[in-house]
Amino acid sequence: MYNKQMTGLGKKRSTIREIFEYGNRRAAEIGRENIFDFSLGNPSVPAPDCVNKTVKSLASDFDSVALHGYTSAQGAFDVRKKIADYINEKYSAPVTPDCLYMTCGAAASLTICVNALCCDRDEFITFTPFFPEYRVFVEAAGGSLVAVESEDGTLQIDAKKLESAINEHTKAVIVNSPNNPSGVVLNRKSIDALCNILRKKSEEYSHPIFLISDEPYRELVYDGQEVPYLINEYDDTFVCYSFSKSLSLPGERIGYIAVSPKLHDFADAYAAVCGAGRALGYVCAPSMMQRVVAACLGQTSDVSVYKENRDLLYNGLTKAGYECVYPDGAFYLFVKSPEPDANAFCERAKKYELLLVPSDDFGCPGYVRIAYCVSTELIKRSLPAFEKLMKEYK
Ligand code: PLP
Repeated sequence: MYNKQMTGLGKKRSTIREIFEYGNRRAAEIGRENIFDFSLGNPSVPAPDCVNKTVKSLASDFDSVALHGYTSAQGAFDVRKKIADYINEKYSAPVTPDCLYMTCGAAASLTICVNALCCDRDEFITFTPFFPEYRVFVEAAGGSLVAVESEDGTLQIDAKKLESAINEHTKAVIVNSPNNPSGVVLNRKSIDALCNILRKKSEEYSHPIFLISDEPYRELVYDGQEVPYLINEYDDTFVCYSFSKSLSLPGERIGYIAVSPKLHDFADAYAAVCGAGRALGYVCAPSMMQRVVAACLGQTSDVSVYKENRDLLYNGLTKAGYECVYPDGAFYLFVKSPEPDANAFCERAKKYELLLVPSDDFGCPGYVRIAYCVSTELIKRSLPAFEKLMKEYK
Protein backbone atom coordinates (compact mmCIF):
# COMPACT_ATOMS: atom_id res chain seq x y z
CA MET A 1 0.00 0.00 0.00
CA TYR A 2 2.81 2.43 0.83
CA ASN A 3 5.85 3.22 -1.21
CA LYS A 4 8.24 0.40 -0.22
CA GLN A 5 11.37 2.44 -0.84
CA MET A 6 10.14 5.22 1.46
CA THR A 7 8.86 2.85 4.17
CA GLY A 8 12.26 1.15 4.13
CA LEU A 9 14.05 4.48 4.48
CA GLY A 10 11.78 5.59 7.30
CA LYS A 11 12.29 2.37 9.25
CA LYS A 12 16.04 2.16 8.91
CA ARG A 13 17.56 4.59 11.37
CA SER A 14 21.02 5.84 10.45
CA THR A 15 23.85 4.35 12.50
CA ILE A 16 24.85 7.88 13.57
CA ARG A 17 21.37 8.55 14.96
CA GLU A 18 21.36 5.16 16.76
CA ILE A 19 24.61 6.04 18.51
CA PHE A 20 23.39 9.52 19.32
CA GLU A 21 20.21 8.08 20.89
CA TYR A 22 22.31 5.58 22.85
CA GLY A 23 24.35 8.58 24.10
CA ASN A 24 21.18 10.31 25.30
CA ARG A 25 20.09 7.20 27.22
CA ARG A 26 23.54 6.79 28.72
CA ALA A 27 23.69 10.50 29.66
CA ALA A 28 20.41 10.09 31.55
CA GLU A 29 21.95 7.16 33.48
CA ILE A 30 25.42 8.49 34.35
CA GLY A 31 25.34 12.21 33.52
CA ARG A 32 26.16 13.99 30.26
CA GLU A 33 29.57 15.03 31.61
CA ASN A 34 30.61 11.38 31.92
CA ILE A 35 30.20 10.42 28.28
CA PHE A 36 32.34 11.35 25.30
CA ASP A 37 29.87 11.70 22.48
CA PHE A 38 31.65 12.10 19.14
CA SER A 39 28.72 10.93 17.03
CA LEU A 40 27.06 14.00 15.49
CA GLY A 41 28.33 16.62 13.05
CA ASN A 42 26.45 19.46 14.76
CA PRO A 43 28.59 22.64 14.97
CA SER A 44 29.73 23.31 18.55
CA VAL A 45 30.86 26.90 17.97
CA PRO A 46 28.19 29.61 18.13
CA ALA A 47 27.14 31.54 15.04
CA PRO A 48 29.17 34.76 14.60
CA ASP A 49 27.69 37.96 16.08
CA CYS A 50 26.57 39.24 12.70
CA VAL A 51 23.91 36.49 12.58
CA ASN A 52 22.03 37.53 15.72
CA LYS A 53 22.55 41.23 15.01
CA THR A 54 21.05 40.82 11.54
CA VAL A 55 18.14 38.76 12.88
CA LYS A 56 17.40 41.50 15.42
CA SER A 57 17.64 44.36 12.96
CA LEU A 58 15.53 42.51 10.39
CA ALA A 59 12.89 41.80 13.03
CA SER A 60 12.70 45.45 14.05
CA ASP A 61 13.44 47.35 10.82
CA PHE A 62 12.53 45.19 7.82
CA ASP A 63 9.04 45.13 6.33
CA SER A 64 7.46 42.26 8.26
CA VAL A 65 5.22 41.06 5.43
CA ALA A 66 8.16 40.82 3.03
CA LEU A 67 10.42 39.32 5.69
CA HIS A 68 8.14 36.38 6.36
CA GLY A 69 6.60 36.13 2.92
CA TYR A 70 7.49 33.92 -0.04
CA THR A 71 10.43 35.03 -2.14
CA SER A 72 10.72 34.09 -5.79
CA ALA A 73 11.39 30.35 -6.12
CA GLN A 74 15.08 30.86 -6.95
CA GLY A 75 15.52 33.28 -4.02
CA ALA A 76 15.26 37.05 -3.54
CA PHE A 77 17.09 38.86 -6.35
CA ASP A 78 19.03 41.22 -4.05
CA VAL A 79 20.25 38.23 -2.01
CA ARG A 80 21.43 36.39 -5.12
CA LYS A 81 23.10 39.57 -6.36
CA LYS A 82 25.07 39.95 -3.12
CA ILE A 83 26.14 36.29 -3.20
CA ALA A 84 27.11 36.51 -6.89
CA ASP A 85 29.20 39.65 -6.21
CA TYR A 86 30.87 37.88 -3.29
CA ILE A 87 31.72 34.79 -5.40
CA ASN A 88 33.08 37.03 -8.17
CA GLU A 89 35.27 38.93 -5.81
CA LYS A 90 36.53 35.95 -3.83
CA TYR A 91 37.06 33.39 -6.60
CA SER A 92 37.06 35.52 -9.77
CA ALA A 93 34.29 33.25 -11.07
CA PRO A 94 31.85 34.78 -13.58
CA VAL A 95 28.72 33.89 -11.58
CA THR A 96 25.63 36.15 -11.92
CA PRO A 97 22.44 36.22 -9.82
CA ASP A 98 20.82 34.18 -12.61
CA CYS A 99 23.24 31.30 -11.92
CA LEU A 100 22.14 31.05 -8.29
CA TYR A 101 19.25 29.16 -6.72
CA MET A 102 18.70 29.54 -2.97
CA THR A 103 18.02 26.27 -1.13
CA CYS A 104 17.29 24.74 2.27
CA GLY A 105 20.96 23.76 2.78
CA ALA A 106 23.34 21.36 1.05
CA ALA A 107 20.99 18.38 1.36
CA ALA A 108 18.35 20.27 -0.64
CA SER A 109 20.99 21.55 -3.08
CA LEU A 110 22.08 17.96 -3.71
CA THR A 111 18.60 16.46 -4.12
CA ILE A 112 17.69 19.29 -6.50
CA CYS A 113 20.83 18.81 -8.64
CA VAL A 114 20.46 15.03 -8.70
CA ASN A 115 16.78 15.28 -9.69
CA ALA A 116 17.58 17.95 -12.27
CA LEU A 117 20.06 15.58 -13.92
CA CYS A 118 18.84 12.03 -13.33
CA CYS A 119 17.27 10.14 -16.23
CA ASP A 120 16.55 6.43 -16.46
CA ARG A 121 19.57 4.19 -15.62
CA ASP A 122 21.86 7.11 -14.85
CA GLU A 123 24.84 6.52 -12.62
CA PHE A 124 26.35 8.99 -10.16
CA ILE A 125 29.92 8.37 -9.08
CA THR A 126 31.33 9.37 -5.73
CA PHE A 127 34.49 8.49 -3.78
CA THR A 128 34.94 6.50 -0.59
CA PRO A 129 34.43 7.43 2.16
CA PHE A 130 31.25 9.38 1.34
CA PHE A 131 28.29 11.06 3.05
CA PRO A 132 25.73 8.20 3.33
CA GLU A 133 22.80 10.36 2.22
CA TYR A 134 24.24 10.44 -1.34
CA ARG A 135 22.92 6.92 -1.84
CA VAL A 136 19.49 7.92 -0.52
CA PHE A 137 19.28 11.04 -2.72
CA VAL A 138 20.47 9.29 -5.90
CA GLU A 139 18.33 6.16 -5.49
CA ALA A 140 15.21 8.19 -4.64
CA ALA A 141 15.73 10.03 -7.94
CA GLY A 142 15.88 6.68 -9.78
CA GLY A 143 19.62 6.59 -10.36
CA SER A 144 22.35 4.43 -8.90
CA LEU A 145 25.35 5.44 -6.85
CA VAL A 146 28.76 4.06 -7.83
CA ALA A 147 31.42 4.33 -5.12
CA VAL A 148 35.00 4.58 -6.36
CA GLU A 149 37.68 3.69 -3.84
CA SER A 150 40.02 6.53 -2.91
CA GLU A 151 43.78 6.09 -2.63
CA ASP A 152 44.67 4.03 0.40
CA GLY A 153 46.04 6.12 3.26
CA THR A 154 45.68 9.61 1.71
CA LEU A 155 42.06 9.30 0.52
CA GLN A 156 42.90 11.41 -2.52
CA ILE A 157 41.28 10.52 -5.88
CA ASP A 158 42.56 7.33 -7.51
CA ALA A 159 42.56 8.48 -11.14
CA LYS A 160 42.81 4.98 -12.63
CA LYS A 161 39.88 3.69 -10.60
CA LEU A 162 37.81 6.75 -11.51
CA GLU A 163 38.56 6.35 -15.20
CA SER A 164 37.55 2.72 -15.25
CA ALA A 165 34.30 3.38 -13.34
CA ILE A 166 33.00 5.86 -15.95
CA ASN A 167 30.77 4.45 -18.69
CA GLU A 168 28.04 5.68 -21.04
CA HIS A 169 25.53 5.76 -18.15
CA THR A 170 27.64 8.06 -15.97
CA LYS A 171 25.73 11.30 -15.49
CA ALA A 172 27.76 13.04 -12.82
CA VAL A 173 30.52 12.79 -10.27
CA ILE A 174 29.89 14.02 -6.72
CA VAL A 175 32.88 15.37 -4.78
CA ASN A 176 32.98 16.58 -1.20
CA SER A 177 36.03 18.52 -0.10
CA PRO A 178 36.67 19.06 2.81
CA ASN A 179 35.20 15.64 3.32
CA ASN A 180 32.72 14.17 5.74
CA PRO A 181 33.75 11.70 7.28
CA SER A 182 37.53 12.04 6.77
CA GLY A 183 38.28 15.79 6.88
CA VAL A 184 40.47 15.29 3.80
CA VAL A 185 40.79 18.21 1.36
CA LEU A 186 41.30 17.17 -2.27
CA ASN A 187 44.71 18.39 -3.43
CA ARG A 188 45.61 20.07 -6.71
CA LYS A 189 46.74 16.76 -8.26
CA SER A 190 43.38 15.11 -7.50
CA ILE A 191 41.38 18.06 -8.86
CA ASP A 192 43.43 18.27 -12.06
CA ALA A 193 43.17 14.52 -12.64
CA LEU A 194 39.43 14.58 -11.99
CA CYS A 195 38.74 17.45 -14.40
CA ASN A 196 40.98 16.02 -17.13
CA ILE A 197 39.28 12.63 -16.91
CA LEU A 198 35.82 14.20 -17.00
CA ARG A 199 36.72 16.27 -20.08
CA LYS A 200 38.17 13.22 -21.84
CA LYS A 201 35.25 10.94 -20.99
CA SER A 202 32.63 13.58 -21.89
CA GLU A 203 34.20 13.74 -25.32
CA GLU A 204 34.46 9.95 -25.63
CA TYR A 205 30.75 9.45 -24.81
CA SER A 206 29.61 12.63 -26.62
CA HIS A 207 27.70 13.99 -23.65
CA PRO A 208 28.76 16.04 -20.67
CA ILE A 209 29.59 14.29 -17.44
CA PHE A 210 28.67 16.78 -14.76
CA LEU A 211 30.52 17.63 -11.59
CA ILE A 212 28.54 18.20 -8.40
CA SER A 213 30.62 19.83 -5.69
CA ASP A 214 29.12 19.34 -2.23
CA GLU A 215 30.66 22.12 -0.14
CA PRO A 216 29.21 22.56 3.34
CA TYR A 217 32.74 22.60 4.80
CA ARG A 218 34.45 24.96 2.31
CA GLU A 219 35.41 27.51 4.99
CA LEU A 220 36.43 24.94 7.60
CA VAL A 221 40.05 24.49 6.56
CA TYR A 222 43.21 24.85 8.62
CA ASP A 223 46.76 25.97 7.93
CA GLY A 224 45.77 27.97 4.83
CA GLN A 225 44.84 24.90 2.78
CA GLU A 226 43.62 25.73 -0.77
CA VAL A 227 40.11 24.57 -1.75
CA PRO A 228 39.86 25.23 -5.52
CA TYR A 229 36.60 26.77 -6.76
CA LEU A 230 35.44 24.07 -9.16
CA ILE A 231 33.43 26.36 -11.48
CA ASN A 232 36.84 27.77 -12.44
CA GLU A 233 38.23 24.28 -13.02
CA TYR A 234 35.51 22.49 -14.96
CA ASP A 235 32.72 24.02 -17.08
CA ASP A 236 29.94 21.52 -16.31
CA THR A 237 29.88 22.14 -12.57
CA PHE A 238 27.12 22.61 -10.02
CA VAL A 239 28.28 23.92 -6.63
CA CYS A 240 26.07 22.82 -3.72
CA TYR A 241 26.86 25.28 -0.97
CA SER A 242 25.49 25.54 2.55
CA PHE A 243 25.80 27.95 5.48
CA SER A 244 25.04 25.14 7.98
CA LYS A 245 28.62 24.72 9.13
CA SER A 246 30.36 27.98 8.14
CA LEU A 247 27.85 30.08 10.11
CA SER A 248 26.75 27.30 12.53
CA LEU A 249 23.17 27.42 11.24
CA PRO A 250 22.29 23.79 10.46
CA GLY A 251 18.78 24.04 11.87
CA GLU A 252 17.95 27.13 9.84
CA ARG A 253 18.25 25.29 6.51
CA ILE A 254 19.92 27.74 4.15
CA GLY A 255 22.30 27.32 1.23
CA TYR A 256 22.39 27.71 -2.54
CA ILE A 257 23.25 26.07 -5.84
CA ALA A 258 25.66 27.89 -8.14
CA VAL A 259 25.18 26.66 -11.71
CA SER A 260 28.28 27.32 -13.78
CA PRO A 261 27.49 29.92 -16.48
CA LYS A 262 29.69 27.86 -18.83
CA LEU A 263 27.60 24.70 -18.40
CA HIS A 264 26.26 22.92 -21.55
CA ASP A 265 22.82 24.36 -22.43
CA PHE A 266 22.96 26.63 -19.40
CA ALA A 267 19.36 27.88 -19.80
CA ASP A 268 17.98 24.33 -19.75
CA ALA A 269 20.24 23.33 -16.85
CA TYR A 270 19.06 26.27 -14.73
CA ALA A 271 15.44 25.54 -15.72
CA ALA A 272 15.92 21.91 -14.63
CA VAL A 273 17.19 23.11 -11.25
CA CYS A 274 14.11 25.34 -10.87
CA GLY A 275 11.88 22.46 -12.03
CA ALA A 276 13.43 19.99 -9.58
CA GLY A 277 13.06 22.46 -6.70
CA ARG A 278 9.42 22.84 -7.68
CA ALA A 279 8.74 19.11 -8.07
CA LEU A 280 10.36 18.41 -4.71
CA GLY A 281 8.07 21.00 -3.12
CA TYR A 282 10.68 23.41 -1.80
CA VAL A 283 8.70 26.51 -2.90
CA CYS A 284 11.50 28.86 -1.75
CA ALA A 285 14.34 28.89 0.77
CA PRO A 286 13.55 30.45 4.19
CA SER A 287 13.00 34.13 3.51
CA MET A 288 14.52 35.63 6.67
CA MET A 289 17.57 33.39 6.48
CA GLN A 290 18.21 34.44 2.88
CA ARG A 291 18.57 38.01 4.18
CA VAL A 292 20.70 36.93 7.13
CA VAL A 293 23.28 35.07 5.05
CA ALA A 294 23.42 37.89 2.50
CA ALA A 295 24.39 40.24 5.34
CA CYS A 296 27.02 37.82 6.72
CA LEU A 297 28.93 36.85 3.57
CA GLY A 298 32.62 36.34 4.25
CA GLN A 299 32.06 35.79 7.98
CA THR A 300 32.42 32.44 9.72
CA SER A 301 32.06 30.95 13.18
CA ASP A 302 35.33 30.81 15.11
CA VAL A 303 37.11 28.11 13.10
CA SER A 304 40.19 28.30 15.35
CA VAL A 305 38.28 26.26 17.95
CA TYR A 306 37.94 23.35 15.50
CA LYS A 307 41.62 23.65 14.61
CA GLU A 308 42.58 23.43 18.28
CA ASN A 309 40.34 20.38 18.66
CA ARG A 310 41.82 18.76 15.58
CA ASP A 311 45.39 19.27 16.79
CA LEU A 312 44.66 17.96 20.28
CA LEU A 313 42.83 14.91 19.02
CA TYR A 314 45.13 14.05 16.12
CA ASN A 315 48.28 14.41 18.22
CA GLY A 316 46.75 12.64 21.23
CA LEU A 317 45.46 9.68 19.24
CA THR A 318 48.56 9.16 17.09
CA LYS A 319 50.67 9.30 20.28
CA ALA A 320 48.44 6.64 21.81
CA GLY A 321 49.08 4.39 18.78
CA TYR A 322 46.04 5.06 16.58
CA GLU A 323 46.46 5.38 12.83
CA CYS A 324 44.62 8.52 11.66
CA VAL A 325 44.08 10.06 8.22
CA TYR A 326 45.42 13.63 8.48
CA PRO A 327 42.45 16.01 8.24
CA ASP A 328 43.02 19.44 6.69
CA GLY A 329 39.44 20.52 7.14
CA ALA A 330 35.84 19.94 8.33
CA PHE A 331 35.52 18.68 11.92
CA TYR A 332 36.00 14.95 11.51
CA LEU A 333 38.87 12.59 12.21
CA PHE A 334 38.93 9.24 10.40
CA VAL A 335 40.72 6.63 12.44
CA LYS A 336 41.70 3.09 11.46
CA SER A 337 40.01 0.55 13.69
CA PRO A 338 42.65 -1.48 15.60
CA GLU A 339 40.58 -4.59 14.85
CA PRO A 340 39.19 -5.47 11.40
CA ASP A 341 35.55 -5.01 12.44
CA ALA A 342 34.99 -1.32 13.24
CA ASN A 343 31.56 -2.14 14.72
CA ALA A 344 33.18 -4.42 17.30
CA PHE A 345 35.71 -1.67 18.05
CA CYS A 346 32.91 0.88 18.58
CA GLU A 347 31.17 -1.52 20.97
CA ARG A 348 34.40 -1.91 22.93
CA ALA A 349 34.84 1.90 22.98
CA LYS A 350 31.48 2.19 24.75
CA LYS A 351 33.08 0.54 27.81
CA TYR A 352 35.03 3.79 28.16
CA GLU A 353 31.96 5.89 27.32
CA LEU A 354 33.49 6.81 23.94
CA LEU A 355 30.80 7.09 21.26
CA LEU A 356 32.33 6.67 17.80
CA VAL A 357 30.73 5.98 14.43
CA PRO A 358 31.80 2.87 12.46
CA SER A 359 32.62 3.66 8.83
CA ASP A 360 30.59 0.95 7.06
CA ASP A 361 27.83 3.38 6.04
CA PHE A 362 30.49 5.67 4.54
CA GLY A 363 31.38 2.89 2.07
CA CYS A 364 34.79 2.31 3.63
CA PRO A 365 34.75 -0.40 6.34
CA GLY A 366 37.46 -0.71 8.98
CA TYR A 367 37.51 2.89 10.23
CA VAL A 368 35.65 5.05 12.73
CA ARG A 369 34.58 8.67 12.42
CA ILE A 370 35.16 11.01 15.31
CA ALA A 371 33.18 14.26 15.06
CA TYR A 372 35.29 16.73 17.03
CA CYS A 373 32.73 19.54 16.97
CA VAL A 374 32.57 19.24 20.76
CA SER A 375 34.11 21.32 23.56
CA THR A 376 37.90 21.39 23.73
CA GLU A 377 37.61 20.45 27.39
CA LEU A 378 35.72 17.25 26.47
CA ILE A 379 38.49 16.29 24.05
CA LYS A 380 41.13 16.78 26.75
CA ARG A 381 39.16 14.62 29.18
CA SER A 382 38.58 11.92 26.55
CA LEU A 383 42.25 11.29 25.73
CA PRO A 384 42.95 9.00 28.73
CA ALA A 385 39.89 6.93 27.74
CA PHE A 386 41.26 6.56 24.19
CA GLU A 387 44.62 5.49 25.67
CA LYS A 388 43.00 2.84 27.88
CA LEU A 389 41.02 1.57 24.89
CA MET A 390 44.18 1.20 22.80
CA LYS A 391 45.92 -0.70 25.61
CA GLU A 392 43.39 -3.49 25.08
CA TYR A 393 44.96 -4.08 21.66
CA LYS A 394 48.60 -4.10 22.77
N1 PLP B 1 26.88 17.03 2.63
C1 PLP B 1 27.72 16.66 3.59
C2 PLP B 1 29.03 16.06 3.21
C3 PLP B 1 27.39 16.83 4.94
O1 PLP B 1 28.25 16.45 5.89
C4 PLP B 1 26.13 17.40 5.26
C5 PLP B 1 25.72 17.57 6.65
O2 PLP B 1 26.35 17.16 7.60
C6 PLP B 1 25.29 17.77 4.21
C7 PLP B 1 25.70 17.58 2.91
C8 PLP B 1 23.96 18.39 4.49
O3 PLP B 1 24.17 19.70 4.92
P1 PLP B 1 22.99 20.72 5.19
O4 PLP B 1 22.78 20.78 6.66
O5 PLP B 1 23.48 22.02 4.66
O6 PLP B 1 21.80 20.22 4.44
